Amino acid sequence: MKNLEKKIEELAAAIEKELIALRRDFHQNPELGFEEIETSRKVAAYLEKLGIEIKTGVGRTGVVGILQGDSPGPVIAFRADMDALPVTEKTGVEYASKIPGKMHACGHDGHTAILLATARVLSQLKSELKGTVKFIFQPAEEGPGGALPMIEDGVLTDPDVDAIFGLHLWPGFKVGEIGVGYGAIMAAPDQFTLKIRGRGGHGSAPHEAVDAITVAAQVINGLQHIISRQIAPTQPVVVTIGTIKGGYRHNIIADEVEMTGTVRTLSPAVRDEVPERMEEIIKGITSGFGADYELEYTKLYPPVINDQKMVDLVKEVANKVLGPDGVKIIKEPSMGGEDFSFYLEKVSGAFFRLGCSSGPETSYPLHHPKFNIDEKALLYGVKLFCNLAFSF
Ligand SMILES: [Zn+2]
Ligand SMILES: [Zn+2]
Repeated sequence: MKNLEKKIEELAAAIEKELIALRRDFHQNPELGFEEIETSRKVAAYLEKLGIEIKTGVGRTGVVGILQGDSPGPVIAFRADMDALPVTEKTGVEYASKIPGKMHACGHDGHTAILLATARVLSQLKSELKGTVKFIFQPAEEGPGGALPMIEDGVLTDPDVDAIFGLHLWPGFKVGEIGVGYGAIMAAPDQFTLKIRGRGGHGSAPHEAVDAITVAAQVINGLQHIISRQIAPTQPVVVTIGTIKGGYRHNIIADEVEMTGTVRTLSPAVRDEVPERMEEIIKGITSGFGADYELEYTKLYPPVINDQKMVDLVKEVANKVLGPDGVKIIKEPSMGGEDFSFYLEKVSGAFFRLGCSSGPETSYPLHHPKFNIDEKALLYGVKLFCNLAFSF
């Protein structure tokens, strides 16, 4: 094993330049969810050159590479997301996005490059590999979600995946660090649209109308009571109303208000309970005031729930690759969402954060127009994945 770690170290280090060049190429040419045509093409071409079996058009624009080791064994999968965001880049770096209004502001360019380099290193160690490695290049993580379409297209079967791992570049950790957490580490990001319908009228005669705006105000307060009074205080829930629109003029009573919002939960049971509570409250308040409502509630991604054994394995491997100081335990989950959760519903695995900051230029949050990474993080990602493949 020691010998193998050394080989990985050498093989990975030898392609660091290529790894960075790959990342910069993806960075300059960002593509939004389900539009990853060029990105997929490059990914498939790279894998093909390595002699890895490929499947394209999986989950629309996804690509899967399958590397069979020389001896039989378990099937391990790694996933990278490939999509960019509708953000105009403001980093000013020479390899900035060439496309106005599109940017790899969530580091998925780095994830894709890391996984390609991992495929290259592992293909060179094929003779020592016991089992099969699946490289999953997924579209549309930022929405509407590419994991589920890939699963529906059979990405976890033929051969059946035994464990899956994924990482996310994370400016909250320094280069050379990772963050891992047990259990639910990211939330289910569900969303809703709520219409409150009253009856319009003259602003001077509210008694002859049903004011959708005052009813909406009561509903907004009522919804926050779900968190504070109805769900156990030990269960994290967020209800945010992000938009509200209604009314025409200062002296007209609004007949309709439309709101949109997001609900974040960590437990599958609470995730099911919140929309039921919402509906009861909205129904009660609107009917009390003679108004009507329409609630459209959409469940998006499940919470990301890591498997304990797989987290232990990530910790063990990271201890070797980064040293004990590099392994940080995430105690508080993020209420952000991530569609890696769909894979974890089917097979055990772990999702971890890969530190990528080393100063002010690399400390902007994800999705920020100045988001950038310290590219040294990429090589750590490759080494972690390669060592995981052998340790598993
Ligand atoms: Zn993102
Ligand atoms: Zn992301």
